[in-house]
Amino acid sequence: MQDCIFCKIVKKEIAAEVIFEDEQVLVFKDIKPVAPTHLLLIPKKHVPTLFDLDESDSGLIGHIHQVAIKVAQEMGLSNSGLRLVSNCGRDAGQMVYHLHYHLIAGRPLQWPPG
Ligand code: AMP
Ligand code: ZN
Repeated sequence: MQDCIFCKIVKKEIAAEVIFEDEQVLVFKDIKPVAPTHLLLIPKKHVPTLFDLDESDSGLIGHIHQVAIKVAQEMGLSNSGLRLVSNCGRDAGQMVYHLHYHLIAGRPLQWPPG
């Protein structure tokens, strides 16, 4: 999508600190980290929010979770843990309307979130 900042990161029109990439998924560091580890996992195809997924995307979503686990293991987070979260829509404060999962770790995380 033309004006989508994450699509521009996928197309390398905007720089990002990429941690992992394959044909379906891109993982990069959040520009404003809220914890020692704060990554964003995105599908390369433009999907605005969770509500725009359908049955045919179940493989993609499963794959994003597998990538999250693999990246977290490689970063040594298996014992300490992490939070994997997707903000969806206005009430969740979604700012970028290209589906993404935050992988947040490296400090004790509060629950419930604000
Ligand atoms: P949200 O849509 O609220 O779930 O969060 C969007 C996230 O994208 C925020 O944590 C931002 O810091 C992050 N972000 C926005 N622009 C960039 C960028 N160019 N590179 C990396 N992260 C970004
Ligand atoms: Zn996009």
